This record gives sequence, structure tokens and C-alpha cells, in this order.
Amino acid sequence: MNRTAIYPGSFDPVTYGHIDIIRRATKIFDKVIVAVADNYVKKNLFSRDERLGMLKEATKDIKGISVESFQGLVIDFAKKNNVNVLIRGLRVISDFEYELQMALTNRRFNEEIETLFLMPSEGYSFLSSTLIKEASSLGADVSSFVPKNVEDKIKEKHKQQQ
Ligand code: ADP
Repeated sequence: MNRTAIYPGSFDPVTYGHIDIIRRATKIFDKVIVAVADNYVKKNLFSRDERLGMLKEATKDIKGISVESFQGLVIDFAKKNNVNVLIRGLRVISDFEYELQMALTNRRFNEEIETLFLMPSEGYSFLSSTLIKEASSLGADVSSFVPKNVEDKIKEKHKQQQ
């Protein structure tokens, strides 16, 4: 049996926390589709293509994954790909409420969909893309939180915005 899961998110931008979850997921599934949400509801710093590009570069050594983007509901994307497992990362208690709501809503839309939560290594459990964007815009060194290609892109973006 070929087991596939989808790991959806904004990845604005990808961090070592996301990569930790991707690596863990590949140990459980034969294939993991890392799915970049292309929606207009969320205001992202990076465009869809920039987020895809950073993710592809940062995960190029990981086997068993594909990096794609999707529009609309993740459950529709899952159905289209014949996948019924969604992976989400759980960091701290504060993630739990939102993630539970989303998992149960998705299940209400499609009973076949299961959401599987993975915990990152504790060193990444406080990391968020939002925090990294804020800290780096104030001049912090974020090199221990994001891959080099992402760090460079963030710096470039801040320069453009100045
Ligand atoms: P979304 O906008 O869908 O929450 P994110 O890119 O912020 O997208 O996150 C995608 C998933 O990865 C979410 O389940 C989130 O909780 C998880 N995640 C984000 N950062 C980390 C981290 N540092 N460690 C583990 N999981 C994380």
C-alpha cells in the first residue's frame, strides 16, 4: 500500500520547525505532499511562487516529498489527490484550539479525512514564521531558525520594503 499525506500551510516563509515536521512525516508516509496555500484571505509577506521556491530549495535533500500549491479548500485538494490524511504541526497549547477546530471542521466537510498532529523537536516548539518575520525586520539574526536561502530572501524583502 502506498501511503500519502498532505502537509498544508502558508509557509510564509518555511522555517526549521516546518522542515522538522516534514522529516518526521516522511518516516511515516511513503509520500508527503507539502502544500502551499494560495489564498487571498491571509496576508502573506511572500508570494505563492516565492514561498514555493524557498520550500523547494530548503527541502531538496528530503526524499519522498513533493512541493505543490493549492487554491481553495485543503479537503478539495486532498480529494483531488486521493489522499485522506492531513499533517499539521503542534507546537504549544495555544496551537491546540485553532488546530482542533480546523481538524473537526475539515472532518465535518469530509468524514474520510483524518488530521494527524506531529510535534517538532522542542528546540523548534516556539518558532513561528510570524516571529521570524518580525524579529528579522528589526535586525535580529534568524540564521538558527531558517535555512540560508530563506534568510537571504527575508533580508532582500526587507530591503525592498524600506
Ligand atoms: P497556517 O497558516 O496554515 O497555520 P503555517 O505555515 O503557519 O500555516 O503552519 C503550517 C503548519 O505547521 C501548522 O500546523 C503549524 O502549526 C505548523 N508549524 C508552524 N511552525 C511550526 C514549528 N515551529 N514547529 C512545528 N509545527 C509548526
